[in-house]
Amino acid sequence: MRFTLPSLNLALRLVGACAFALLAPAQDAPGPDTHGIVVANMDRSVKPGDNFFEYANGNWIKRAVISPDRSRIGVFTTLADLSDKRTAALIEEAAKGGAAAGSSARKIADLYNSYLDEAAIEAQGLAPLRPHLEAIAAIHNQHELAAALGESLRADVDALNNTNFHTPHIFGLWVAPGFNDSEHYAAYLLQGGLQLPDREYYISNSDLMRDTRSKYEAHVSAMLKLAGFTDTDARAKRIVALEHAIAEKHLSLSDNEDIHKANNTWKQADFAAKAPGLDWTAYFRSAGLSKQASFIVWQPTAFAGESALVASTPLDTWKDWLAYHLIEEYAPVLPKALADERFDFFGKVLQGTPEQRPRWQRGVVIVNRLLGDDVGQIYAQRYFSSQAKAQAQAMVANIIVAFRQRIEALSWMDPSTKAEAQAKLNTLYVGIGYPETWIDYSAYEVKADDIFGNVFRGSLFRYHREAARLGAAVDRKEWSMTPQTVNAVNLPLQNALNFPAAVLQPPFFDPLAPAAANYGAIGSVIGHEISHTFDTEGSAFDSKGRVRNWWTPADLAHFEAATAKLAAQYDTYRPFPDISVNGKQTLAENIADLAGISAAYDGYRASLPGKTAPAQDGFSPDQQFFIAFGQNWASKSREAALRQQVLTDPHAPAQYRADTVRNVDAWYAVFDVQTGEKLYLAPPDRVRIW
Ligand SMILES: [Zn+2]
Repeated sequence: MRFTLPSLNLALRLVGACAFALLAPAQDAPGPDTHGIVVANMDRSVKPGDNFFEYANGNWIKRAVISPDRSRIGVFTTLADLSDKRTAALIEEAAKGGAAAGSSARKIADLYNSYLDEAAIEAQGLAPLRPHLEAIAAIHNQHELAAALGESLRADVDALNNTNFHTPHIFGLWVAPGFNDSEHYAAYLLQGGLQLPDREYYISNSDLMRDTRSKYEAHVSAMLKLAGFTDTDARAKRIVALEHAIAEKHLSLSDNEDIHKANNTWKQADFAAKAPGLDWTAYFRSAGLSKQASFIVWQPTAFAGESALVASTPLDTWKDWLAYHLIEEYAPVLPKALADERFDFFGKVLQGTPEQRPRWQRGVVIVNRLLGDDVGQIYAQRYFSSQAKAQAQAMVANIIVAFRQRIEALSWMDPSTKAEAQAKLNTLYVGIGYPETWIDYSAYEVKADDIFGNVFRGSLFRYHREAARLGAAVDRKEWSMTPQTVNAVNLPLQNALNFPAAVLQPPFFDPLAPAAANYGAIGSVIGHEISHTFDTEGSAFDSKGRVRNWWTPADLAHFEAATAKLAAQYDTYRPFPDISVNGKQTLAENIADLAGISAAYDGYRASLPGKTAPAQDGFSPDQQFFIAFGQNWASKSREAALRQQVLTDPHAPAQYRADTVRNVDAWYAVFDVQTGEKLYLAPPDRVRIW
């Protein structure tokens, strides 16, 4: 599971979903001479016990302005911006060097420049799209429809690492270590077929969702019209009705997160009987998967339902659906009229963002998505020192020791369960900064004047690369994030963690900051990721990444009772009067936040002996620890973006993540929090899990 909202990886597909922010004013981040917590960002008129988020970030919140091209602003988006600027500079250097054809520098430059060349894109018009639309128009029967659907399969979902359950294609492929054979890569198939972010957008009866749906239908019609279709209102109505029918077959996000519901092995020959309707032989053949004997089907009922819809819905409706989905997918690299219409709906309506990000920044997103490791290799060399790496590794070691001690001290956990938890810590791979091996892009052809083709070939390259690994031995040290990504991730099937270079920088991590601030900020992120190794998800995978429930029933019962209390606590948070945080949907992440800060605090205390821990602006080191944690969550969202997050993301909104501290005993003593203050919980009501 990733640590926070995705920033880069969905950018091409969901224009509105990325969360960049303008670089915050200089006083918002520690400058070159300030290290540690940023006192100027706090609001000391707020009592920490009433609202810890505002206490730590109140003055920042008052000053921060979400620029017109953003849906939110915060520490993560500020750092993502910095990472983008650095990446753009690397790309421009690559472009200047006159690098040889076929070299990595040439590809980076050609990909970026082909996106920036708007005049060429306008001049080509719809020409790059036309052969694909003609192929769809030539579909005559169910067999050919199944082949076209198979051809659209991409490796664009990820159930457990980057937790992306959304694909607009009818299904999505995820290649990862097998649930039942963790030594080899298996093929996971996930539900898909929707353009809106989640089934809720189709099914909810709220006024807001009904309004969104009618705007969506108008948008579908507009896109078809811009692509040269006639009778577009009627076509749009049928496409949206088909998506609605698909949505009704989909599982909800909290069901998707339950891996016990997902471990369903189907032989290729089983599909026709278990999910009749789609011509599966044709589907797998054109997806290049005829020889793949078995698959893990994440949502069997959705596969049965969607496959039945292939047979029961008129062929012409499916052809329109295919055409519309193709246009939508490539709109960001088509003429401005289509790109703008796409943004007007997915950016403005769904995210509340008035303007698109500058084109150079969207270009960086595309390069990161399609050639991310080539860029990342240079990025890591330039921006991540071996000294920073060693210091981060020392913090990880202290936090792992803290986890060992916490597990040993648990009174409720069976000794056999404890032994396996310790074994998981022994085999845990913690990647710091950058991976040990890099993706080889030599089979990916990039042309100087063909952005449409570059993007098309890029997603196909990724698909072929992933599919080619099926059945191969697993590389447990492989990364799932690039070094220039501002995020962190736990890879449960590999029993591994990745902390990219771009998140290991101020304000999260600063080699010159007091240990208290580093442990409170990045230490709690490290603790968060380690704790996923043992949570509801981690408890399903053993030290070798195999699906094996290594908890006793009594352990599980205790864990579920303790975590139900935390779910209930988050259910009470209401970002808007008509909507509350979903405690169940966000539970795994909330547990990880709580475990993360607890272990980071222990790790910090353990790092102290023999060192002096200075006060900063009158704040004791322990206070700095908690304030640094709270400042991780400095964040402001547009209403539509926040509503989308509450519905579609496994993470609670940032403000509530900061208030996790109310479950930590040490926080009460450090800030003298008293009964009657809003966040106060009586000791028995504080949730203690690890
Ligand atoms: Zn997480």
